Amino acid sequence: MSPAYKLNPEQLKAVEHGEGPLLIIAGPGSGKTRVITQRIVHLLTGAGGAAEEPALLSDFKTPTAHGWDPDGAGQAARATPGHWEVSSGAGVLAENILALTFTEKAAREMQRRVREALPEIETLPHISTFHAFCYEVLRKRHFERTLLDKVDVWIFLRQRMESLELEFYQKLAEPGAFLHSLNDFFSRCQDELIEPADFERYAEAMDRNFQAIAPSLDAAERALMQQDIQKKQELARVFRNSRKLIEEAGSSSLGSLIPETVRLFDREPEVLESYRQLFCYVLVDEFQDTNYAQVELLKRLVKPPYNITAVGDDDQAIYRFRGASHGAFKMFDQAFPQHETVFLDTNFRSTQRILRAADVLIAKNDRYEAKPQLRTSREEGTPVYLLQSPDFLSEAAWIADEVARLTQHGTAPGDIAVLYRAHGYRDLLVEQFRRRKIPFAIRGLSILSTIILRDLMAYLNIIHSAHDNVSLTRVLLTPRWNFPEDMALEARQQALRDRCSLYDVLESWEKSATSNRLEGTGWPDLQRLLRELHKYAEYAPVLAVLQRLIGRLELSFLPQDPDGSYVEAFRKFLEKWVGKSESWKLDAFLEYFAYFREAGGQIEAPEPENSANAVQMMSVHAAKGLEFPVVFILSVASRRFPHTEQKPVIEFPEALRKGPPPPANIHEQEERRLLYVGLTRAEDRLYVSSVAKPAKKPSVFISDLTSNPAVEASDLARIQVPEAPPETVGAPRAEALPPERPSAPKPQGSLFGDAAGAPGIYPPIHEWASRTSAIRPEEKLHLSASALETYDTCPQKFMFSHYLKIPTGPQPALTFGNIMHQCARRYFELRRQGPVKFEQLQAHFEQIWKSAGFEDDYQEQAYKKAGLEQLRVFVSRHESVTVLPLAAEAHFALDLADVVLEGRIDQINPLTDHSVELVDYKTGRPPSQKDADKSLQLSVYALAARDQMQLNPARLTFYSLTNNEAVRTVRTPKDLDLVVREIREVAAQIRQRLFPPNPGFACKYCDYVLICPAHEESF
Ligand code: SF4
Repeated sequence: MSPAYKLNPEQLKAVEHGEGPLLIIAGPGSGKTRVITQRIVHLLTGAGGAAEEPALLSDFKTPTAHGWDPDGAGQAARATPGHWEVSSGAGVLAENILALTFTEKAAREMQRRVREALPEIETLPHISTFHAFCYEVLRKRHFERTLLDKVDVWIFLRQRMESLELEFYQKLAEPGAFLHSLNDFFSRCQDELIEPADFERYAEAMDRNFQAIAPSLDAAERALMQQDIQKKQELARVFRNSRKLIEEAGSSSLGSLIPETVRLFDREPEVLESYRQLFCYVLVDEFQDTNYAQVELLKRLVKPPYNITAVGDDDQAIYRFRGASHGAFKMFDQAFPQHETVFLDTNFRSTQRILRAADVLIAKNDRYEAKPQLRTSREEGTPVYLLQSPDFLSEAAWIADEVARLTQHGTAPGDIAVLYRAHGYRDLLVEQFRRRKIPFAIRGLSILSTIILRDLMAYLNIIHSAHDNVSLTRVLLTPRWNFPEDMALEARQQALRDRCSLYDVLESWEKSATSNRLEGTGWPDLQRLLRELHKYAEYAPVLAVLQRLIGRLELSFLPQDPDGSYVEAFRKFLEKWVGKSESWKLDAFLEYFAYFREAGGQIEAPEPENSANAVQMMSVHAAKGLEFPVVFILSVASRRFPHTEQKPVIEFPEALRKGPPPPANIHEQEERRLLYVGLTRAEDRLYVSSVAKPAKKPSVFISDLTSNPAVEASDLARIQVPEAPPETVGAPRAEALPPERPSAPKPQGSLFGDAAGAPGIYPPIHEWASRTSAIRPEEKLHLSASALETYDTCPQKFMFSHYLKIPTGPQPALTFGNIMHQCARRYFELRRQGPVKFEQLQAHFEQIWKSAGFEDDYQEQAYKKAGLEQLRVFVSRHESVTVLPLAAEAHFALDLADVVLEGRIDQINPLTDHSVELVDYKTGRPPSQKDADKSLQLSVYALAARDQMQLNPARLTFYSLTNNEAVRTVRTPKDLDLVVREIREVAAQIRQRLFPPNPGFACKYCDYVLICPAHEESF
């Protein structure tokens, strides 16, 4: 056998391995993909990877499209059941080889390489993902099924919430809040081959145990355990119900494919036998990412002499969040104890210094036994640079300077990669690259955050409903419509005053006989466009609506323009949706799309085409499998790398685990592997950037890297990064702003203004969102407690709502809260006339109920049910109350010189000593004692009661209507002085017009996402 490819002895050993199980532990850069491909080629040709003698090409032809046919004639040729010859010089039939991997991209790459090695091959072996393989197996036994990915499952269940019968795992304001956690939990069960019936048995056993010990428990312990069991019972019920719903709809979740296939093989041994006969050789790439269910599938698929080849590297197992097990190789050892092991420990990629540094890091992990250290014949190379920056801005500025220096000295930008743990960490560096005009390309971007997509979505929203104020605000900002911002502000203020939409105001202005104020703006053209497309959307498919919109806006893109590829990706997304949806119209799509966003769906942007001339920026996860001459690892800092662990909301019970138990520090170990993957992407030059204030501890991984004195002395070079000068922060952008004052009518070359590609098509969101008019020093600021709280949560949101006065639609939690407040007030009005029955309050509740703002009927009914139950308890809890309120909804406007504090106190109750209790009713999550103690709202109430109403607020109470419990607190005069100081500080920031966005958890509930600069990538 004379291999046509240069393989080193270990690679050759792996490629030419004969029969029996084989485990190939392949370190980074050791030629893993080449080895697995060559092994396939070797099996096909019976020679060591050479295609010189393409033995019996006719052997590679099969009558099937997929290269395998368990039911047909394809298996006839050379596969003698139970025994297959290798190395005979004739090779194995393509259809007798199964190669499995995890992503479509990896499968395609493997196919490409085999075809490249054997260009004349007519039928490839079966090379696919685990999921695609199982889908094919199931398709042969079942009816056609639609496959639902994670986001699809979320949307599917969200649309059928009432059938899930949720109790503990439901949130009124956000009905789908627990669906991800539930689905993650069910996926976890599927990865461990746990069926709904198994989980039911587990919950029943728990209940039996509890019943046996319940008499010996105290009340608190009993209640806690009982609730835990009820939660498990609910999980069991929802697991079964969701499975049933999906199956009844003729679908399967991706996660269920593997357990379903295992079940099929167990139930119908003859089916399994046909596959075992067919696939003489099974190869699995990236074996470290397999889970228990996948290993069980493989165990079934191979039979003596167990011709399975598993290739992977336990040090590069970084996909636990996608269901990978931490103990894949241990399971392989147990399943195939007689296996041979080949270590591919020659690294062809990195310099010696890079490898030694990487080895010091990974040595801190639990690793596969007897693993040799990586070696290389490459040179020592430059040291690994360990940057130490005092803050993230200094880090970004230094790295950008260094990249500029490297490119000036001849390194191609495309040879440089910047890797980060999370996408949000790159923003400062992006800004620094921009300032230095360094070209960069970001991999893994979602097109949903691009300006062009956000614009198109805003148009589609207002084509469907012109009363969507936020979308119309965005569209009006586009220079094309020549709509002055001061006029837009006036319209928004009127909309708030008149409680109507922005569109209504503009329409009324247009109809007004006395006013021509819209003259010179593009409003008439925009309105015509909206009307035309709204009519069109009533019967035309959404794709046609998009097409017409693009045509009417005269958008056309040059081949190099990334916007063109984003629009194309969106078009494909729409096509896919049309394929799986029962409708193809705009309204149905927008409903789906709202769920898609809520479910966390993303549409990945295509890889930039001209990225060879740009610095490559990507997450470390995305870099797996790639290599670059120069690598920067960004922000190896405390809480960033290692990333803070997020425990699952619903823990998988240890008692049900079938695979090996995880180590206690599994999260840290996985993060360390991730950094190891990052380090080993570097060929020649590696920078590891740590950020910590001088006195603070660096990331634990920096301590790991420097833990070997010999390696530190010979292979690492520390660089102290100086603090970046303040002028490097936040340069203004030079983009067009809409005029402050109406400008003269613009001569228009077309019906809708500027031609495609002209700067007039994009709204200058960043500038607009940071531009406000000055507040005159003598002007008093009118602030409420909720406005102050909004500022505290996100100053940008405060600006949108209180400054730019952008009206939003009704929100379910607010609608519900309003109704419940009215009911509480009504209760005390009725009490003045005598005892109150629940039915009286119920009648009031029904009478004032409004459907405005609820996401759907399910949410509305859930709120209604909860509201009535809460009122029933409210009535019974208040039966014995004898003292009635002094006042309800007491309005105040407290003048604090430069600020007027405004608001209403829900209820004022008299106390025995002439003091009062101020009550604030709460709906939603019941407030804690800490919430009450820290509440700005209660402080503001106390201030107003004391200083304006001349009362003595001795007690402040949050009364939760959700659980009908009160939480009480007090404020001392000193507390109130402090609050006044805090309010003045906020007022000063507002006067300075400091409105930075504060992206985070609150964005989930924010109506302004579509116009918020923090959610917009301006590349
Ligand atoms: S989307 Fe987030 S960052 Fe933007 S305004 Fe809303 S809360 Fe603030």
